[in-house]
Amino acid sequence: MNNSQAFLAALRAALPPSSVLSETEDTRPYECDGLSAYRQLPMAVALPADEAQVLAVLKVCREFNVPIVPRGAGTGLSGGAMPIENGVVLSTARMNQVVRMDAYARTAVVQPGVRNLAISEEAAQHGLYYAPDPSSQIACTIGGNVAENSGGVHCLKYGLTVHNVLRVRMVTMEGDVVELGSEALDAPGLDLLAAFVGSEGMLGIVTEVTVKLVPKPATARVIMASFNEIGAACGAVAAVIAAGIIPAGMEMMDRTSSRMVEPFVHAGYDTGAAAILLCEADGTPEEVEEEIARMTAVLQGAGASAVQVSGSEAERLKFWSGRKNAFPAAGRISPDYYCMDGTIPRKQLARVLLGIEQMEARYGLRCANVFHAGDGNLHPLILFDANKPDELQRAEAFGAEILALCVEVGGTITGEHGVGIEKIDSMCAQFTDAELAAFSAVKRAFDPLSLLNPNKAIPTLNRCAEFGKMHVRAGRLPFAGLPRF
Ligand SMILES: Cc1cc2nc3c(=O)[nH]c(=O)nc-3n(C[C@H](O)[C@H](O)[C@H](O)COP(=O)(O)OP(=O)(O)OC[C@H]3O[C@@H](n4cnc5c(N)ncnc54)[C@H](O)[C@@H]3O)c2cc1C
Repeated sequence: MNNSQAFLAALRAALPPSSVLSETEDTRPYECDGLSAYRQLPMAVALPADEAQVLAVLKVCREFNVPIVPRGAGTGLSGGAMPIENGVVLSTARMNQVVRMDAYARTAVVQPGVRNLAISEEAAQHGLYYAPDPSSQIACTIGGNVAENSGGVHCLKYGLTVHNVLRVRMVTMEGDVVELGSEALDAPGLDLLAAFVGSEGMLGIVTEVTVKLVPKPATARVIMASFNEIGAACGAVAAVIAAGIIPAGMEMMDRTSSRMVEPFVHAGYDTGAAAILLCEADGTPEEVEEEIARMTAVLQGAGASAVQVSGSEAERLKFWSGRKNAFPAAGRISPDYYCMDGTIPRKQLARVLLGIEQMEARYGLRCANVFHAGDGNLHPLILFDANKPDELQRAEAFGAEILALCVEVGGTITGEHGVGIEKIDSMCAQFTDAELAAFSAVKRAFDPLSLLNPNKAIPTLNRCAEFGKMHVRAGRLPFAGLPRF
């Protein structure tokens, strides 16, 4: 029996029957996440059903020195859940129970594999919901949301995952069960919850989460405003916030995006406009009416060429349908697209969008911008055809240049999709060697053996040194060691 066979036998012995997959046809679905250009088959997939079984998997992996990649639904866009060769993927698919719903405390205790939307569906009977709403919420899990600190349309007003999670129970690679935060508003000891949220599966495996629930607003209406110039639309975003209004959602779509989605969903978008802003107000009918009136005045003052307000719930959903369907619409007009994720100060929106327009010409690729404008969280969708020579490389170089511009204007290389493998080189552009060394020290404190999702998110200093040299070469492969699709 070789070492892999011995490992698989030990793993199978540690778990109930049918909890370990190792045949290629069974592990194939786990070979990538949403960053599907990069794929790697794992040695095995473990499907624990509870925390004790997670601990059992970790124990066997420690004994055989086998790395583990935690995985929720695999909707991540930065390769965080991409397997490691000769490693195990630990899927939380069977840990999908809502443990407790407390309408009085407005909290829910859930296992990590519970889908984001399932929490709100379960809470709806109490007139409550879970506010962070990634567009992937029908599929993505709360464990993945915690690991990525996920956001969504409503996060401008209600906060990101980190603001909506009270307590995380997790297990470290060494087998310690740790609770971070508490069900009260504060917890004793160091506040490690915020450090853990967004740690991309590298510090521990989430086994249970307590989330906050908020009352479903009595009503909501959305304004759709057209602008003839991108600069004016960007100015309007800043003007709304400066007026002291925090919309329930504030999203922008440029002309490429609205022309891309309109034939697909017929949302009634002004396809002649340089940009469209969707601004939502929620609350009691009186609050909504007042906020809509104030936002309308600000948007008109900022140069909107047309303003429409949804007159019914059906119309509100119609206005949003284009925004929500932007990704599938991109798939209709381009064989492939690459979704970037950078965050910038709101006042830099116009400069960065203009910069992206210039890059489109330079890289010979189109880019659709559809994004969380209120948060300054950009999602440029670079359209390309992977079957054409060089287009994937050009798309990746284009994406890296967008991120470099985000850093240059005082922003960050990720808003909500994480670093994973996708942006590991861009980490070298964002952080100094000393900062990267500090991140590695945090990783080592939680996982001294470096077996939990290793080589993701934090580049080695060597890698950064090589990246500095590689940067000047055209057509380079950022992850030459990884198999490509
Ligand atoms: C169409 C589409 C739209 C999207 N829209 C948004 C959006 O609006 N906002 C947004 O923020 N993101 C969005 N995403 C990205 C993605 O859905 C989120 O990052 C999501 O949180 C990933 O959840 P998941 O369950 O799929 O995690 P996975 O992709 O399986 O894993 C993501 C990371 O979490 C780690 N992980 C998973 N489970 C655990 C656990 N139990 N313990 C520790 N680590 C764990 C993994 O190791 C990996 O590093 C979108 C993706 C798609 C495909």
